[in-house]
Amino acid sequence: YYNDNTVIYFNGNFRKAKEAGTDLYGQSLHYGYSVFEGIKSYSTDQGTKIFKAKEHYERLKRSAELMHIPFDYSVEQLTDLTYELLEKNGFSDAYIRPLVTCSPNMSLSKGKESYLSLLAWEWSNGYLADKMKIMTSEFQRPNPKAFKVEAKVGGHYVNSILACQDAKDKGYDEALVLDENGNVAESSGANVFYEKDGTLFTPAKGSILPGITRQTVMEICNELNIPVKETFFTPEEMRGADAGFFCGTAAEIVALDSLDDVPFTKNWEDTASHKVQEAYSKLVRF
Ligand code: PMP
Repeated sequence: YYNDNTVIYFNGNFRKAKEAGTDLYGQSLHYGYSVFEGIKSYSTDQGTKIFKAKEHYERLKRSAELMHIPFDYSVEQLTDLTYELLEKNGFSDAYIRPLVTCSPNMSLSKGKESYLSLLAWEWSNGYLADKMKIMTSEFQRPNPKAFKVEAKVGGHYVNSILACQDAKDKGYDEALVLDENGNVAESSGANVFYEKDGTLFTPAKGSILPGITRQTVMEICNELNIPVKETFFTPEEMRGADAGFFCGTAAEIVALDSLDDVPFTKNWEDTASHKVQEAYSKLVRF
């Protein structure tokens, strides 16, 4: 992720990643009490562009607010700092990780002081499987009555690690995680859609992280006249559908090969989902 020359931003200053440290006496390290984002920048004909910077930084501010973490950077400041960070590192196609941590404080009451870190590394999607074999996980999503599931909080991702690693140990590429009612929610780090007879279905909000890519997919569907429904459904309803995909900033739109060893039935290139995938990859580089 970084080398001797990598520059990061930490609390007011740009500095070398290798010289950055962390306070051992903090709520973020001990309790997962941090909020973060995952953003991507792309090289375009007009230079480097951060995709949906405003939406990501609005979500970061909202996540901090929901977690009672004091955080007063504006969306504009955050965006400007991110462009500066990319420039200092000479990055164009990159993944950007803003992180807000609380320290020094070991109590279980709200954070008193917060620190902003901005990290970035070069990124290409080359390493991802073209088509993922996924399994229904026995790990459920965090219960919305126990967590602010719509916030992107460090501690929530312990659940993601458990689900993702369990799927890998069982020979799959990823987990499909259900909500507390047994309906499909999302994967360890992406939202999910499936396609049946030309209509796309995606889990309604409630137990998911409402993804910015998910929203973009719905906008693309509107433009392309592809019907899309936000609704609750079980893995049984999704299994053996025409097509399925995961979507998120990191993964973009990645086709699913099978769910619990039951293949999706239509040739990917002939699906509406494939049209959405193509439109998305044009949009991010526009
Ligand atoms: N769900 C989870 C649990 C995630 O971690 C992510 C990645 N941020 C997503 C969905 C997709 O969100 P986005 O499209 O905003 O990246």
